[in-house]
Amino acid sequence: MTAPVIYWHRQDLRLDDLPGLSAASAEGEVIPCYILDDTPSDPWGPGTASRWWLHHSLVALSEQLKERGGKLLVLRGKPEKLLPKLAAETGASAVYCSELLEPAARQLQQHVARSLEQAALVLRASPGTTLVHPEYMRRPDGSFYKVFTPFWRKLRQGDIAAPTSTASTRFWRGPLTSLPASEWGLLEGSRDYSAALAHPWQPGQHGAQQRMESFVASQIHHYDAHRNAPAKNACSRLSPHLHYGEISPHRVWHTAIAQGPEADGFLSEVAWREFNYHQLYANPDMPEVALRAPFRDFPWLPREDLFEAWKAGMTGYPLVDAGMRELAQTGFMHNRVRMVAASFLCKHLLIPWQWGARWFWDQLVDADLASNSGGWQWVAGCGLDAAPYFRVFNPIIQSEKFDPQGDYLKQWLPELSALQGKSVHKPWLTPLLAPDYPAPVVDHAEARQAALAAWDTIRTQS
Ligand code: FAD
Repeated sequence: MTAPVIYWHRQDLRLDDLPGLSAASAEGEVIPCYILDDTPSDPWGPGTASRWWLHHSLVALSEQLKERGGKLLVLRGKPEKLLPKLAAETGASAVYCSELLEPAARQLQQHVARSLEQAALVLRASPGTTLVHPEYMRRPDGSFYKVFTPFWRKLRQGDIAAPTSTASTRFWRGPLTSLPASEWGLLEGSRDYSAALAHPWQPGQHGAQQRMESFVASQIHHYDAHRNAPAKNACSRLSPHLHYGEISPHRVWHTAIAQGPEADGFLSEVAWREFNYHQLYANPDMPEVALRAPFRDFPWLPREDLFEAWKAGMTGYPLVDAGMRELAQTGFMHNRVRMVAASFLCKHLLIPWQWGARWFWDQLVDADLASNSGGWQWVAGCGLDAAPYFRVFNPIIQSEKFDPQGDYLKQWLPELSALQGKSVHKPWLTPLLAPDYPAPVVDHAEARQAALAAWDTIRTQS
């Protein structure tokens, strides 16, 4: 009888198109496990909303494995200690996993590989978090890309591996005791992020596949026309599924490509995810440090009271506040609104982008280190291929343009329900009709001037 092998699930909570799992099952029966590390050395361990998602995703994976004759072993502790121990207990001959690209995850992989080595075992990590591993996406001179357009061109013209099935995987049936879901502790301090949604989140591979199918059936062909309108249900909402690897980027890519050239707009957004991972891989300090050096001396005004107003969705600017309320209730915010809310924080309020990134990290069900840091650096103007700082989003014009009827605003801001027509974009003009809604915390024109003046102090170097 051949020895079993361990498959260490991380941000790949699926059984479909998983190269590491296919490789593992070619060697022996598989012991799937997930390790909860309560004291990770990672300063970016999952936040409140992300932990909620993780709980439900692990439940879904357990059920899926049960249907396939396997069992998910959930353990608590340090992977570098638990994996060699588990291998010794089961006689496993190797440990397989997906290669993650976040700095702390890469470091952990090295620790685990070293500790397995001491037990004469190997860690086999397969790529797959991104469509193409950053090492294979270098520019002709060997450097990493800094600009999106040539990156996108290269990705679009490249050969993206087709998804594969893991249907033939056999699972080990030996006795092992898994930590029960009631002891995972992932739901502490969280709410039900689905409660306010017409179509609730469904974490797990099954939910991811259903979302992909319904997006392709009814939205992908209108994506370019409607993707910026938060009231229209035009985007895929695949981001949390992609973050936890419940669907592979390859599956998403090939499913979209099969829809024809109309899917290109969608594919280019998927490429932004890819580009963000590429940048994070090349710049491991991207979550904390501005990629454009002059922005490290930017004269921020870290005002706690304004930060609290922003977090609570009480700035007096409807599009910003609607986004922040959507985030609090659903763990999600539409991309256009993320840009406006984030820009408002770091330009109108001059609060460091890192504060906003931390808050999003805690609140988003799709919190993803690469895309969150990339998104914030893009908005703050300090990313490598970022929006120029001097282009300060006007939250009123953005709201009038992308939510002209105010449907999105009224969905998340019940205080504005009495406002008719365009007045919903400027509630301060009719305060008697929205008595519970705050006055703007800053004046747009003054705030814009202050932002540009602050930028002036570093402009010559940027
Ligand atoms: P769709 O429009 O359907 O796009 C499909 C997929 O492409 C998404 O699921 C996502 O994986 C990727 N994608 C789309 N737009 C972007 C983008 N601008 N940048 C990177 N990838 C993109 N995305 C995250 O996944 N996690 C984050 O933590 C995150 N934080 C962000 C913070 C800020 C300040 C900003 C401006 C953007 C952030 N984004 C983040 C990017 C983007 O807002 C979300 O990926 C998108 O809103 C998810 O919705 P969707 O799945 O319906 O996207």
